[in-house]
Amino acid sequence: MYLTSKIILLPTQQQANTLSNLITIYNTEVNKCISKFIMNQKIAWIPYSTLDKHLPWESKKEVIKEAKKIFNDYSRRSSSTTGSFKGEYCRWHFDSFTLNSKLILQVGQQSKISVDYYADPYQKNLLSSGFLTSLRIENVKRKWYCYVKILIDDPQPVGEHIMGVDLGIKVPAVAATSTGKIRFFGKGRQVRFICTSQTSRLSKLMRKNDYRSIRKTDQKWGNKLLSIDHQISKKIIDFALKENIKTIVLENLINMQKKSDAGKRVSSWSYLRLKSLIEYKARKNGVTIQTINPYNTSKKCPNCNGINNITSRKYICNCGYNNHRDIVGAINICNYNSKKPN
Ligand SMILES: [Zn+2]
Repeated sequence: MYLTSKIILLPTQQQANTLSNLITIYNTEVNKCISKFIMNQKIAWIPYSTLDKHLPWESKKEVIKEAKKIFNDYSRRSSSTTGSFKGEYCRWHFDSFTLNSKLILQVGQQSKISVDYYADPYQKNLLSSGFLTSLRIENVKRKWYCYVKILIDDPQPVGEHIMGVDLGIKVPAVAATSTGKIRFFGKGRQVRFICTSQTSRLSKLMRKNDYRSIRKTDQKWGNKLLSIDHQISKKIIDFALKENIKTIVLENLINMQKKSDAGKRVSSWSYLRLKSLIEYKARKNGVTIQTINPYNTSKKCPNCNGINNITSRKYICNCGYNNHRDIVGAINICNYNSKKPN
């Protein structure tokens, strides 16, 4: 599997100029290829020799790959995309860089530069854990970042039990294990507070047409929610490892929207992000992921399999069973494989 490590580059002024230059060339060349594809109305053959000679040979491959991808997206939904490349970065392939105490980069056909960089201990550890397949360099607000893609061996599978995780709004995540343990993760109120306070702020700015502040607010809000999702997913995986979990079962999120009773404002993408963070961290730790169709998971009684329509937070069944509604969901997700839905 692939992991990405982010390091900070510390180029000299001259090196920074070279990198900026390459980013501009990369962008221009990708857009040239796209225009050519659009003109031909199909992916045409582009000889590497026709691309700017300042690009390292292997980066030319990436230029064409990038252009093909954008053209394909463009032709699939032709009216909504502009069919142009807006990326402000340049890519290098594994045979055009080496990363040791310095980053040695091929720039152009013959010349190389040797750039200082900073990586914290976690990133250093990551970099030494596998094979570095490619990297992407970009300049954001005068800082230089380098994203290194690392191919590592899949971790050995761990654990023996099953854990169901129910994602929601009032409670971001509830886990139920096949050994009978229940755990709540995150504070729904915290997420909801950020969402509602930001929504009212955004609508005020919207009325004033203050697009710059809107973008800023949106970004800040997004960062806060992302860091909350990181914390929640980490706690879930820590709990899974402690409970000797082999497989985490999650709901297929396409059907989650109907559950978002309280959170019309939190669209399905926020579920999707938390879900993908859980999947990513699970895989990294050797825990497998199973995704299921959430058919009746919040309605079925874990005791008698009866179906009850529940309107409050409390789940009550005629058989006498009662529990927190989200716990019922998590238990049913956990039991999905052992008891087939009725
Ligand atoms: Zn029942």
